[in-house]
Amino acid sequence: MSFEGRYQKLCPNGHYEEQDVYMETSRCEICSEKWEKSNLIDDTNNPGEGFDESMVPTKAPKDLPLKQSFGLFLADWKAKHFK
Ligand SMILES: [Zn+2]
Repeated sequence: MSFEGRYQKLCPNGHYEEQDVYMETSRCEICSEKWEKSNLIDDTNNPGEGFDESMVPTKAPKDLPLKQSFGLFLADWKAKHFK
């Protein structure tokens, strides 16, 4: 079986994204800054292994609308992975 996983990415402006390991970008797709933090989640055997909750912003960055709040994103993520 091949490796399955995602990267958590956080840029200096607080934009957070999860990217498939095979579709990783080196820069934030919103503001084009280089990612400040990167963390690998290993989904191969145990989905969500290595997930770093502390990287997920608790409020949306100033320049994004509230409906893109990452707090909501995290809730979705939890609903999918911790049933
Ligand atoms: Zn950014």
